[in-house]
Amino acid sequence: MLKGKTAIVTGSTSGIGLGIAQKLAGEGCNIIINGFGDKDAIEKERAGIEKNYKVKCIYLGADISKPAEVEKMIQDAEKEFGGIDILVNNAGIQFVAPIEEFPVEKWDAVISTNLSASFFTIKYALAGMKKKQSGRIVNIASAHGLVASTGKAAYVAAKHGLVGLTKVVALEIANHGDITCNAICPGWVYTPLVEKQIKDNAAKEGISEDKAKEEMLSEKQAVHEFATPEQIAGLVIYLCSDSAKSITGTTISIDNGWTCQ
Ligand code: NAD
Repeated sequence: MLKGKTAIVTGSTSGIGLGIAQKLAGEGCNIIINGFGDKDAIEKERAGIEKNYKVKCIYLGADISKPAEVEKMIQDAEKEFGGIDILVNNAGIQFVAPIEEFPVEKWDAVISTNLSASFFTIKYALAGMKKKQSGRIVNIASAHGLVASTGKAAYVAAKHGLVGLTKVVALEIANHGDITCNAICPGWVYTPLVEKQIKDNAAKEGISEDKAKEEMLSEKQAVHEFATPEQIAGLVIYLCSDSAKSITGTTISIDNGWTCQ
């Protein structure tokens, strides 16, 4: 169903974004990958996607916290593929500290990467989608886009903001053809972003990493398991399909019972 479409996935050099890029490629989409990391590892990922899924894949290394770089990334992607059909705003960072100790530059970094960047990508990609009268925008928010936790002021504010942005975009693109905008709200997914929090918690509490993992899962989720990037990617594929045409401006949780409690 998605064969021949063009998808851009921000932050797809690791974790959830990598899983989404691979699954979209598996559906036959041409892919633009983006994100930081080792040059050789990124090239291996890019070439692997082309070889394994027989699609075209390019890497655009924009720092998505910088508006000018985002604008150029969207322009380059449109030039290369003649337009963008699917935009997945996935790149994100975390920083944990109580508000009084939260460094101002960390607040700015989290807000610009986890919230403003999606405003920029959408701002620059929307004209092309409107022209085509079709498109799918999927924002990777979080359970923290719906509920809060201590120590995560910037992350929780950014993800709540991203959910709000999702709703505004859905309203503004309504009746411009088949374009939708939705947010996915994952609970814990085992990726480098979460691995760091597990290590930090283990060190802070003087416990093993396995114990810290267990505590992390049981503190928040009814089901004490991590979701996988492949599961998040499966939901992205569904939201990009024709079956999801009438789903817009909403959040879908995939959180092992985090926010139903
Ligand atoms: P990750 O650290 O594995 O991957 C983050 C990706 O974003 C990397 O590719 C990184 O290079 C990229 N990135 C960071 N800053 C960037 C920038 N300025 N410009 C371009 N790329 C940048 O993290 P992940 O767990 O896969 O997280 C992906 C998304 O899912 C994030 O938005 C995160 O908030 C969200 N999320 C994660 C979880 C979880 O439990 N892992 C839960 C809910 C939501």
